[in-house]
Amino acid sequence: MTITLYDTHAREKRVFTPADPNRVTMYVCGPTVYNHAHIGNFRAAVVFDLLFRVLRQAFGHDAVVYARNFTDIDDKIISASKEQNAPIEEITHKYAEIYKEETAALNVLEPSFEPRATGFIEEMQALVSTLIDKGAAYIAAENVLFDVNSFDEYGSLARLNRDDMVAGARVEVAPYKRDPADFVLWKPSSDDEPGWVAPASWGLAGRGRPGWHLECSAMIKGVLGETIDIHGGGQDLRFPHHENEIAQSMCANDGAPLARYWLHNGFLRMGDEKMSKSLGNIVLPKELLTRWHGEVLRWALLSAHYRQPLEWTDELIQQSKRQLDRFYRLLAEVPTAPAVDAPPPSIVLALEDDLNTPEAFAGLHELRDIAQQLDGDARRAAISRLKAAGELLGFFGEDPAIWFQAPGGEGEMSAADIQARLVARAEARQAKDFAKADQIRDELTRAGIVIEDGPDGASWRRA
Ligand code: AMP
Ligand code: ZN
Repeated sequence: MTITLYDTHAREKRVFTPADPNRVTMYVCGPTVYNHAHIGNFRAAVVFDLLFRVLRQAFGHDAVVYARNFTDIDDKIISASKEQNAPIEEITHKYAEIYKEETAALNVLEPSFEPRATGFIEEMQALVSTLIDKGAAYIAAENVLFDVNSFDEYGSLARLNRDDMVAGARVEVAPYKRDPADFVLWKPSSDDEPGWVAPASWGLAGRGRPGWHLECSAMIKGVLGETIDIHGGGQDLRFPHHENEIAQSMCANDGAPLARYWLHNGFLRMGDEKMSKSLGNIVLPKELLTRWHGEVLRWALLSAHYRQPLEWTDELIQQSKRQLDRFYRLLAEVPTAPAVDAPPPSIVLALEDDLNTPEAFAGLHELRDIAQQLDGDARRAAISRLKAAGELLGFFGEDPAIWFQAPGGEGEMSAADIQARLVARAEARQAKDFAKADQIRDELTRAGIVIEDGPDGASWRRA
């Protein structure tokens, strides 16, 4: 088994060798919980869930420790709390729960740890104290700032020159900074904002709160350790967020690297643009999940290689549904077949090659084609292998009967509607009103519903 991963820091594909194969560590920056995440936000959750599964397959179920955080203290949350006139904890709790439900619907496994930033304030303060003691941080205008000139390697991940860094996203120019690229570790909170009392040695007058970058550095150290194997996130996080995580952590931890491999996923797009709240071109899983099974969305998100941009279109979703239907039709032949076999090597190899999902999907199609040409035990064995591959990738977890009852798209009859019509049809038959019974049947047929009358009444599926 050789896993290769494209390491954004090295700018090349590297063979993945964990520091300790019995404890492979991975951290992915999670959501800021103040509203509904859009489907673009879910690309990282799904991509790194797949990596989590591939690592567990390679190193053993219990050998992989995966942490994905919730950012539950942030200016955007404070604004949301003021706008909605609701306590911060209520908002963050609500949206963290929704995020968990929605990721679960996309067959995203629960990470080993889901730390919340507010649970690590002490660790954040300890990190800042260390940085102040080492001369890598300074106090200015009631802020604690990181001094980027104290860290020679600053910029090694983003490989940006100084001007580009300062011009880059989320770098705030303020008169009290020694260097415009210096960033906030801790900032003052007004009386109506959440805040914590800082250690007296910092010499601050009032309460304050952590900067976003500091949160991740502290959670990584607190949950996983000083150096982790893999750090992941969306490509926009490379700078300044991950660059700053590296600077803080390496300075505080005597130069220990923060992560041995850096992975970044590409954006989900709408047309030529990034899907983003500020552009207003977002689609919410909340809405998608009323129309599509979560596996359809997962298939769509994994259909392109994770580093490539992926355009989100209705056609992509419909095509994903059609492709999954073809697998489920075969799986329906032996609905209870366990995944006894290992997934086929070609699919495992594709995934171990920097998560090559297009090739892995091609392998699934090939396996299905082969199974369809077989009979009897050989056919059942091929289906079982297909199920094992599906388990690795996070697909085919649904009961095929339920799969074909799930809504297939906008305007389709819901399972409840269909059930109600079947009841009406049974009543019409009982009353010997066969014209009405036939009329209901025709209506269902036109809606693409196949009815099968059996000894226990009628059952249905989508054609
Ligand atoms: P934002 O909501 O823009 O603050 O982004 C939160 C997280 O979602 C970040 O980690 C981004 O990398 C990620 N993200 C935002 N928009 C997209 C997108 N269109 N495609 C993929 N990831 C995204
Ligand atoms: Zn982070």
